Amino acid sequence: MRTSIIGYPRIGALRELKFASENYFKGRFSIDELIRTGTDLRAAHWRIQRENGITFIPSNDFSFYDGVLDTACLFNIVPERYRALGLGELETYFAMARGYQGEQGDVKALSMKKWFNTNYHYMVPEIDDATTIQLAGTKPFDEFAEAKELGIATKPVLIGAFTLLKLAKYTGAKQAVDFVQATAKAYAAALAKLGGLGAEWIQIDEPILVTDLSEADVALFKKLYSAILADKGSANILLQTYFGDVRDGYVELQALPFDGIGIDFIEGKRSLDLIRQFGFSDKKTLFAGVLNGKNVWRNRYANAIALVQELRSHTGQIVLSSSCSLLHVPYSTKGETKLPEENTRHLAFAEEKLRELAELREILTNDVPVASPLYQENERLFGASRFTGNAALQARTAALTEADFARLPAFAERAIAQKAKFNLPPLPTTTIGSFPQTAEVRANRSAFKKGSITEERYKQFNREQIAACIARQETVGLDVLVHGEYERNDMVEYFGECLDGFLFTEQAWVQSYGTRCVKPPIIWGDISRSKPITVEYSTYAKSLTDKPVKGMLTGPVTILNWSFPREDIGLKDSAYQIALAIRDEVLDLERSGIEIIQIDEAALREKLPLRRSDWQSEYLSWAIPAFRLVHAGVRPETQIHTHMCYSQFSDIIRDIDAMDADVISFEASRSDLAIIDAINGCGFRTEVGPGVYDIHSPRIPTAGEIKQGLYRMLDKIDAGKLWVNPDCGLKTRGETETWASLRHMVQATLEVRESL
Ligand code: GLN
Ligand code: ZN
Repeated sequence: MRTSIIGYPRIGALRELKFASENYFKGRFSIDELIRTGTDLRAAHWRIQRENGITFIPSNDFSFYDGVLDTACLFNIVPERYRALGLGELETYFAMARGYQGEQGDVKALSMKKWFNTNYHYMVPEIDDATTIQLAGTKPFDEFAEAKELGIATKPVLIGAFTLLKLAKYTGAKQAVDFVQATAKAYAAALAKLGGLGAEWIQIDEPILVTDLSEADVALFKKLYSAILADKGSANILLQTYFGDVRDGYVELQALPFDGIGIDFIEGKRSLDLIRQFGFSDKKTLFAGVLNGKNVWRNRYANAIALVQELRSHTGQIVLSSSCSLLHVPYSTKGETKLPEENTRHLAFAEEKLRELAELREILTNDVPVASPLYQENERLFGASRFTGNAALQARTAALTEADFARLPAFAERAIAQKAKFNLPPLPTTTIGSFPQTAEVRANRSAFKKGSITEERYKQFNREQIAACIARQETVGLDVLVHGEYERNDMVEYFGECLDGFLFTEQAWVQSYGTRCVKPPIIWGDISRSKPITVEYSTYAKSLTDKPVKGMLTGPVTILNWSFPREDIGLKDSAYQIALAIRDEVLDLERSGIEIIQIDEAALREKLPLRRSDWQSEYLSWAIPAFRLVHAGVRPETQIHTHMCYSQFSDIIRDIDAMDADVISFEASRSDLAIIDAINGCGFRTEVGPGVYDIHSPRIPTAGEIKQGLYRMLDKIDAGKLWVNPDCGLKTRGETETWASLRHMVQATLEVRESL
């Protein structure tokens, strides 16, 4: 039996590529040093796969920034404004990735989007009417040859033509269909060249096939591949899908002359049914994604083996594969020196997943797989209990009723009580929570973490920051104040550390985009809160002012979406556990006199399923209630705020309203304000604070432009419902620009209020 993986992480086990790239961007590394880092990493990654006996080792899965951008460059999709800079090839590539400001000109980066249902982000290729799609680069050929030099025959990987054309942005009159011929020709040329170099198999990734496809989409797909495969040459072509099932194109896939089809049996809910119903061509090889490429847990061999045995009754040629690229998991549990073996033996990062594929292969060579010692050892691992469950919590979750999710009285009545209580001016001003994290703020936290200062000193420093921040917010004239979040680095990390049930890693980094990596905590057990988390700082801040101070929490869906979830219970169950913990915090804040509480759901949209038909049933039906569970127990006059980082929620606007917060703030200064129309159109109840200026840039907005923005909002939104705030937290900004911007924001608001 053969084994395959779809892709390997590339940032480096110690994030070597990140640091080399950043050094290069800062001018501390030469381009050659950066290139050498890439070469070394590729060699290391190929070798480790060879050591684990992987049959189909990918090449061209490496990237200096992003694989979609690599593909765009390979096929000459480089907008003129980048070419015009007259830079070298790699420099032009980085200009597209990050923007360029220098002697050769000034251009912004291409836009960036979330890669399907992952936390990875790709650069959006931009195609205009003058774009000539043709084979222009050499990266896949070079990397194939490089591996060959090392004695390793690889399976080159290309992001497919259909996915590329579907993800691209068209800035002219031409659309995807207008580029079919040229694209097909360019891909055919790449395949022929790889075949000529000796590639036996070539993997073409088409993850877009797992999304909802229209008939026109399927027609486009068929047209592209009929042309690409018309004269396909010597190499075998594997059409690889992942992140779901291919229900809308399964029959067409079988009919086209691919030599192999890669199918995801982990996230592809209907994958097995499709094979049962339509069979699998005996002329093709099935690359069966049986090993979860996204999660960090050991594979339960019993399930994988049972699946493969059923697949064997449908088709003869099966390759064991990961369900998606291993890009989405960290490198190796070997990097976790602080986690005990009783934890790590349940974890499988990329390297351990290679080992698991090898073990599955070995088990399957047995006549009686279940008799294999490896199989039995794995069953023992899963048979033993991993942790002691929290019986009290389980009883509490089981006893939840509708009433626990329903805040009373209804919004309109609460709104009246709150208006009377807070007596805020129209268009109240506030911020999203965090204030600039200066070097001293970070140094204080890290000194405390390292144990080089006492807890008392650490807290005293934070109290001083809070006092200064409150005083300045008062001087600037904001209406609802915050404590500033000086104790938090990443908010999910912060709450994870304060709750029971999470595991923290040292080196378990995952690439989010470019050189940016995240280290999501692992949800290990039942989540609970053993003591108040934020009460001390919030009440301290409140004691310093007569103005209302918002308590600041992160919501359950965001905590869950930015962690590695458990596999032994569902997402809904984990979300409810986290919700109960945060609910206790909300009630403690309320009891301590905090009258406004913001519960951030920055990542609410993140795990929205790829198929619209799954939005409610698989996600919103528990994600929205989880949020309500957090705040449903508060008194009518306690005002609940929430915050979302993006305003792309026109399509789930009713669900956002059903969160039943009293106020929602969101990013709006960079978007086209379609959201304001959506809010206006649907009778949205929740009061809104669309961000009035962009916090992603150091630029200080003028009072005049903020004023204009406010008037535009007032055209659509009732003045009694509008709040004034920046787009998001201010922690990444500098001090000077922050306070100047807030002064302008308040000034603009005062002027607009006068005119109401
Ligand atoms: N309260 C958080 C902050 O201000 C919210 C951050 C976020 O939405 N990502 O930083
Ligand atoms: Zn935000």
